[in-house]
Amino acid sequence: MNIIFMGPPGAGKGTQSDFIIEKYQIPHIATGDMFRAAIKNETKLGLEAKSYMDAGKLVPDEVTINIVKERLLEDDTKNGFIFDGFPRTIVQAQALDKMLKELNRDIDVVINIDVPFDVLLKRLSGRRICKVCGTSYHLEFNPPQVAGICDKCGGELYTRSDDNEESARVRLETYTNETKPLIEYYLNRGLLNEVNGLQAVDKVFIDINNIIEGIK
Ligand code: ADP
Ligand code: AMP
Repeated sequence: MNIIFMGPPGAGKGTQSDFIIEKYQIPHIATGDMFRAAIKNETKLGLEAKSYMDAGKLVPDEVTINIVKERLLEDDTKNGFIFDGFPRTIVQAQALDKMLKELNRDIDVVINIDVPFDVLLKRLSGRRICKVCGTSYHLEFNPPQVAGICDKCGGELYTRSDDNEESARVRLETYTNETKPLIEYYLNRGLLNEVNGLQAVDKVFIDINNIIEGIK
């Protein structure tokens, strides 16, 4: 099963990906996570990506497409994958089509998680992430059992440096200008499915799961 999760920053793509990974045992390819790992490891890629990420802008297409190309060549993607945060531009979507064609694979389903912007700003400002396993929490909407500690692995929670209000506003603007046109791109390909992301986390997953089961 080859899945793309779409939706603005804070829609719940990472949160829902965790459920999908557990249920379908497919790898999670999140370009944002890949860039954050590169920054942590102080690689050339990390150095290049950091300034764009801090400003809420997109990392250039060529750089992003190259890391995805390499990732797709890894063996664990053969039985499926879930893309989270990629593609984010029409150029990236076209490049992905080309890569998959060369690998004789295809996208099975695109799921767009829809959430209005006023709610997204609250979600981003209250988001906390586990330093160790990356699980996403929210201070108010999805709190951990013990404040500051991950329920799953006991890791320490932190606030992403780009989850401040200024950067979040730019990211939402970037989404509108560069990523939202992909909704029509995948609608035209007959792949798009919409989910109401305003529902509780478990309800959103029920809807996503129904879509996936429907196309299996
Ligand atoms: P994305 O990966 O799309 O940027 P996340 O999965 O990290 O978004 O979710 C953003 C924030 O919203 C997190 O703090 C998360 O705990 C919270 N969240 C996710 N889904 C829901 C939901 N259905 N209702 C309320 N809060 C949610
Ligand atoms: P995310 O973790 O998906 O919220 O992404 C965090 C940041 O990483 C974004 O604001 C961008 O700066 C960068 N990024 C992640 N994915 C992409 C992508 N597909 N194209 C360009 N930039 C990206």
